[in-house]
Amino acid sequence: MFEWLARRRRERALARHALPEDDWQRALDCLPFISHYDQALLERLRELATLFLVEKSVVSGATDGAHSLEVTPFMRVLVAAQAALLLIGRGETVAEAMTEYDGFENVVIHPDDFPRTYDYEDEDGVVHQLHEPIAGESWDGGPVLLSWPAVEAGYAESGMALVIHEFAHKIDLNDGLIDGIPPLTGAPRERFARVIEAAYTDFVARVERGEDTAIDPYAAELVEEFFAVSCEVFFAEPELLAREYPDYFGELRAWFQVDPIAGRRWQPMT
Ligand SMILES: [Zn+2]
Repeated sequence: MFEWLARRRRERALARHALPEDDWQRALDCLPFISHYDQALLERLRELATLFLVEKSVVSGATDGAHSLEVTPFMRVLVAAQAALLLIGRGETVAEAMTEYDGFENVVIHPDDFPRTYDYEDEDGVVHQLHEPIAGESWDGGPVLLSWPAVEAGYAESGMALVIHEFAHKIDLNDGLIDGIPPLTGAPRERFARVIEAAYTDFVARVERGEDTAIDPYAAELVEEFFAVSCEVFFAEPELLAREYPDYFGELRAWFQVDPIAGRRWQPMT
C-alpha cells in the first residue's frame, strides 16, 4: 500500500515538473556517451532526471565570499542526467528505479576541490590528521559532494566522469557495505564478488608493474574505487571495459540492465 502511494506520488511529480528543453539538450551535448541510446531509453533517462530533481536538492556548498558559487538550473540538469544514467535500465518503472537513491536528499556543489579531513595511523601507531583536496565524496546516508570544475571538465577532457563515480558509491552503499558489490544477494552476489575480485586483482598487478593503463590507476586503490571507476568507464567508454574485462563488463551490464555499447535495454538470454 505504501509502495503504491509512493509510486503514485512520484508519477504525479513527474507530470508536474518537466525539465526545460534547452537545458536538457545542452546537457546531452555535454555528454556525448549518452546520445546513442535508443529513443525509449533517452525518454526514460529524462524522466529519471526529472524525478531526481523533484526529490533531491542540488545546492551550492559556497553561498558567500569571494569564491561563492551559484548553482544554475542547467548545472542541476547536468548532474541529474548523469546520476539518472546509472538507473537508465533499472526497475519496472522510473519510480521504482529511483528508490535506489532513497536515503539522502542533497547534492552539494563546491566551486573547487574541497578538503577532506581524515585520520591516518602510521606504522608506529601515531595518528596523523590529513587534509587532502578531493573532487568528490559520497557520505553514507548523507549528501553527495561534487567539485564543479571536475563535473564541467567532462570525460573527454579529464578522463573522469565524477558524477557517475560518486553515484556508483551510493549504489554500492545501498546494502550498508562499501565493498564494490551492488546490493545483490545469493548466487548473483557471489558471482559478482568473484568476477570483480578477479578483475581488480589483475588491475592492481598491472598498476604495480608500472603499466600505463587506459583505465585510471586510481581504481587500484581499493576494490570499491575499482567499482566506482569502472562504472564511469562502463557508461562513458564501454568498449574499453568490455575489451579489458569482458566477464566483469557482463556483470555490470546485468546489474545496470543496459547495454551501453548498443545503447539498448539489456535482457538476459532465456
Ligand atoms: Zn571514489
